[in-house]
Amino acid sequence: MKSVTKRMVSAALALTVLIATFGIFTTGAKAKKRERSDLTIGIDPGHQSRGNFGTEPVGPGSNTKKIKVAGGTRGTTTGIPEYKLTLSVAKYLKKELKARGYKVVMTRSRNDVDISNKERAQKLNKKCNIAIRLHADGAAASAHGASALYPSENNPYLTKSVCRKSKKLSDALLTQYCKGTDIRKNGLHARDDLTGTNWSSIPVALLEMGFMTNPSDDTYMSKKKNQKKMAKAMADGIDKYYGFNNME
Ligand SMILES: [Zn+2]
Repeated sequence: MKSVTKRMVSAALALTVLIATFGIFTTGAKAKKRERSDLTIGIDPGHQSRGNFGTEPVGPGSNTKKIKVAGGTRGTTTGIPEYKLTLSVAKYLKKELKARGYKVVMTRSRNDVDISNKERAQKLNKKCNIAIRLHADGAAASAHGASALYPSENNPYLTKSVCRKSKKLSDALLTQYCKGTDIRKNGLHARDDLTGTNWSSIPVALLEMGFMTNPSDDTYMSKKKNQKKMAKAMADGIDKYYGFNNME
């Protein structure tokens, strides 16, 4: 009896040690924090020097077709075309994100390209964790401010998880962008008619950085020093989405 008890005690002890050890291992695995260097941010500078008016499906499996890539708007005060503005800001954003430790993939680094909105999404799907689409608005001269466009929860082409994460990303991006710049916050809008968003299989946000048809927004966005501010503020938004403290 005595030796049986002894054996039971030592078996229990061994089990305790095992559980404790396993516990440490699992805690250790959970505690492994995701670093910025584990993440690849996709940037799509909207448009290109010439639009492509061929068509493509607005989403996977859709019979609705839209033009491959539009020419974009233009600064009514500065004369700067949207495709030049988006690329210029995208380059600052890439630099800022890399300085913070992220990896970055851009859909284009030149203006003279021919890449459809579907192709842009597919390029980023392959290599990135999230996609940031940069655009600027055009409307009546009085309209000004920034907005972010995200897929609604009823988007027929995307999973609910991607839609929810896209809204969270759009919110963080827009909030920090307007905090860090002199551009007014117009708000978040659900949009399910955007080809480049519907083909995305990763969380995606489209930022309308301001109105190129508004003299104040147009002039502000055209200045290099402001473009650096815009990029820093967007990077703050991405940090916020992932829960990174940008004072680290
Ligand atoms: Zn645009």
